[in-house]
Amino acid sequence: MKIAVIGSTHAGTAAVKNMAELYPEAEITVYERNDNVSFLSCGLALYVGGVVNDPQGLFYSSPEALQELGVTMKMQHDVENIDTEEQTIEATNLVTGEKVYDAYDKLVMTTGSWPVTPPIEGIDLENVLLAKNYNQANTIIERAKHAEKVTVVGGGYIGVELVEAFEKAGKEVTLIDGADRILNKYLDPEFTDMVEEDFRNRGITLALNETVKRFEGIDGQVKRVLTNEGTHDADLVIMCVGFRPNTDLLKGKVDMLENGAIKVDAYMKTSDENIYAAGDCCAVKYNPTGGHAYIPLATNAVRMGTLVARNIVRPTIQYVGTQGTSGLHIYDLNMASTGLTETSASMMDVHVKSVTIEDTHRPAFMPTAEQVKMKVSYDPDSRRILGAQVISQADVTQSINTMSVCIQTGMTIDELGFVDFFFQPHFNQPWNFINQAGLSAAQ
Ligand SMILES: Cc1cc2nc3c(=O)[nH]c(=O)nc-3n(C[C@H](O)[C@H](O)[C@H](O)COP(=O)(O)OP(=O)(O)OC[C@H]3O[C@@H](n4cnc5c(N)ncnc54)[C@H](O)[C@@H]3O)c2cc1C
Repeated sequence: MKIAVIGSTHAGTAAVKNMAELYPEAEITVYERNDNVSFLSCGLALYVGGVVNDPQGLFYSSPEALQELGVTMKMQHDVENIDTEEQTIEATNLVTGEKVYDAYDKLVMTTGSWPVTPPIEGIDLENVLLAKNYNQANTIIERAKHAEKVTVVGGGYIGVELVEAFEKAGKEVTLIDGADRILNKYLDPEFTDMVEEDFRNRGITLALNETVKRFEGIDGQVKRVLTNEGTHDADLVIMCVGFRPNTDLLKGKVDMLENGAIKVDAYMKTSDENIYAAGDCCAVKYNPTGGHAYIPLATNAVRMGTLVARNIVRPTIQYVGTQGTSGLHIYDLNMASTGLTETSASMMDVHVKSVTIEDTHRPAFMPTAEQVKMKVSYDPDSRRILGAQVISQADVTQSINTMSVCIQTGMTIDELGFVDFFFQPHFNQPWNFINQAGLSAAQ
């Protein structure tokens, strides 16, 4: 069996490692544009901020390691065409310019995503940068050495992490977002208010409700960001306004969502019998609504990549879907969320009720005890739990992984009150705050 894999970061690397082990007789060829595999973008802000000093730690595999598994690695090869009828692909060797043609029995599409770059005047100026891969991380570090005023456009988790990194490095930082608050896709206002207050207290300028209209520069270098509300001086701009799936190669050839995310079945198979897909190039099954959603996360990518390997020969293990569970550490605050927030529920026209618990994470008799805020949202009719958010200076973020399981298994808010959780004064209260959330929703 000839398997061609396009893209080898998280989904691709997971698929390749597992396929090489499961099917030693298969002829696996990987096409990857970059000169590296498995870059952990999640460490990008820590690398830029100098918390991670050795960039080698940001890779967990290498072309050589995959080659040792018997895989043919075509690094710095850009796949330019896929003929799904003939089952062939066409690529260019980016080093020599040579054209490469190949045929496949099964194709694994793990081409991921690319940062959205809106058609804003001046976006091509020097020092307007993107933050996704290893080369871009190095460019940001290099350019930041000579920058004093840094503007981050986009207040999602990547933008917010970069804001912290630049502020800690002593830069004058502005965060621009068209929405009225940061992190609005992950957390409700009572949570994001805390992060915004912290940012403002540290001298970070929050330019919310502002849309970038133009970048202006001198001698080709960015100097100003003009928005609908005003002007922000900047000698470095990082664009973090979201991601779009990299799926042009299969446009019109397999079923996709409107944004181009490939639809796969529970076995990661696309609408083409011989093409499997995983990771950021795909839509995922979103359990809180039961529909398809685009949630580009490394966690989804490694799970889906592993499932491709398990299912590519015969359907074996089904994907259980996702709640879009994610966590974040910003300065002294630890936060995490899973499933729907009230904001995202209302954007999706889903009616939810919510309960909020505020308590200390462990008994007050302990030498220290931090405040915890947890909110749980549920369907008022079926009473099924649909989402949860938590924030605290204590690291109680694992509670959100517990809530993710509750959503996935269809637990009701009433059952949540009586789930068996341990108590030990170092860690929590006799009534765990998760139980308390369930109890306080009692009818
Ligand atoms: C700054 C940052 C921080 C993040 N933090 C987190 C986090 O904390 N937690 C989390 O879960 N997720 C995080 N993510 C998201 C996570 O990085 C992505 O979800 C993950 O990288 C997706 O992996 P993937 O393999 O599907 O796609 P990608 O990482 O996009 O990789 C796709 C690969 O395909 C290659 N490719 C594409 N097209 C072609 C072609 N035509 N020919 C050859 N090769 C091609 C690309 O070069 C690339 O290597 C973060 C992302 C960023 C940018």
